[in-house]
Amino acid sequence: MTTTLVVPDRLASRLRELSTYDVETGGVILARLVRTPEDNIRLLARELLEVPDHAYERREAQQLLISSEGYVPALARAEEAGCVPIWFHTHPGNDSNPAPSRHDLTVNRSLSDLFRLRADSPFYGALITSSDDGTITFTGSLDDGVSIAPIDRLWVVGPRLALYHACDSEHQGVLDIYDRNIRAFGGPVQRVLGDLRAGIVGCGGTGSAVAEQLVRLGVRDIQLIDPDELSDSNVTRVYGSRLKDVGRPKVEVLADHLADILPSIRVRPIQSMITVEETARLLLDADIVFGCTDDNAGRMVLSRLSTYLLVPVIDCGVLLSSDGAGRLDGIHGRVTVLHPGQACLICRGRVDLGRARSEMLTPEERNRLVDEGYAPALPGVEPAVVAYTSAVAAAAVAELIERLTHHGVDPVPSEVLLRLHDREVSTNNQEPLDRHYCHDSSGKIGLGLTAPFLDQTW
Ligand SMILES: [Zn+2]
Ligand SMILES: [Zn+2]
Repeated sequence: MTTTLVVPDRLASRLRELSTYDVETGGVILARLVRTPEDNIRLLARELLEVPDHAYERREAQQLLISSEGYVPALARAEEAGCVPIWFHTHPGNDSNPAPSRHDLTVNRSLSDLFRLRADSPFYGALITSSDDGTITFTGSLDDGVSIAPIDRLWVVGPRLALYHACDSEHQGVLDIYDRNIRAFGGPVQRVLGDLRAGIVGCGGTGSAVAEQLVRLGVRDIQLIDPDELSDSNVTRVYGSRLKDVGRPKVEVLADHLADILPSIRVRPIQSMITVEETARLLLDADIVFGCTDDNAGRMVLSRLSTYLLVPVIDCGVLLSSDGAGRLDGIHGRVTVLHPGQACLICRGRVDLGRARSEMLTPEERNRLVDEGYAPALPGVEPAVVAYTSAVAAAAVAELIERLTHHGVDPVPSEVLLRLHDREVSTNNQEPLDRHYCHDSSGKIGLGLTAPFLDQTW
């Protein structure tokens, strides 16, 4: 079991800043607690309530004494927001050690009951951060009044991504085979890739190419989700597929292939649609999800997932148009990165809501409504070419690398549009529409589990 504290980048920047002060600084982080299907815990940070200046009775480089006014209002807020209160303080000074002192442990014991009672939360969290050359080092714990478990990972989500491990946690080494990657972007990013849990939704031309690249990049934990069996016309695009695999579930063909590349990786094939609630819930364990599905209803689920559960989604699509006489006249690719603060796929007009509704119907209902003119007909078999699906998959994986390395332009564009027929690339950023769920004011960012799941009718 692992516990991951997921922090939107705005809040993480503030934590980092506070950790560079030369005196100890405290506050309460409010986080929604989510238990994942694999029995891990995700704490989704929603707010950081800093101790107000007047509540510091003593504040030095290695000492902190605050009055109850410093945290009591935060506990009321935690109760109101249904959040776990995490008492947070810094150990200042570059290269300082965030390990709890004996005094910290005593304080934690005395705060646990008080915090849990006042916030009406079964859990009390404690977090200590330090700053190390612009990155955060930390230790943390989660206490349910009976037992105490470590907070193992801190996953910063936003335009840039960062994964930090608790400074006292054990770490898997990096294999020599990644030498060329390390020469390109360094050991720390390689280590993060090895610790990421990735989900891939849709295992066709783009999804299988993404999967293959992730494994070769060093990602070791991958969920594959796709409902379909491999058809003979899939063999032309699906990586790892052979003519003799026709009829087998795509996820199994791909999973076998990935395990052949590197037997030590963990791949979980799930033959199902993402529009099945139980399947969507499996993505609660993912740190990052690649959306490689053609269907609009599936895209709507992924769009909500990124907002409610702070799971960044890299969604991609390829659209070929032909002039009807067998000549390609448009080769379009799109890679959109969804994270808190950016417009979702609906705000961007990247989802056809009519089609999405149609896709959620049973085939009988759909045919009836199409006949009556109440629903759009779903498109038949679309053209697809391996060169273009692979190109878009590579662009999607490149987004992940770019966001982990923190290189490149600032602000980072959240969408890349490829017009391969014109050999042109353009990028954009888009604000959420007012009052939409992806907008900050909706209160849905990092809300966690809701009933119904993702506030969606399934
Ligand atoms: Zn301390
Ligand atoms: Zn939106």
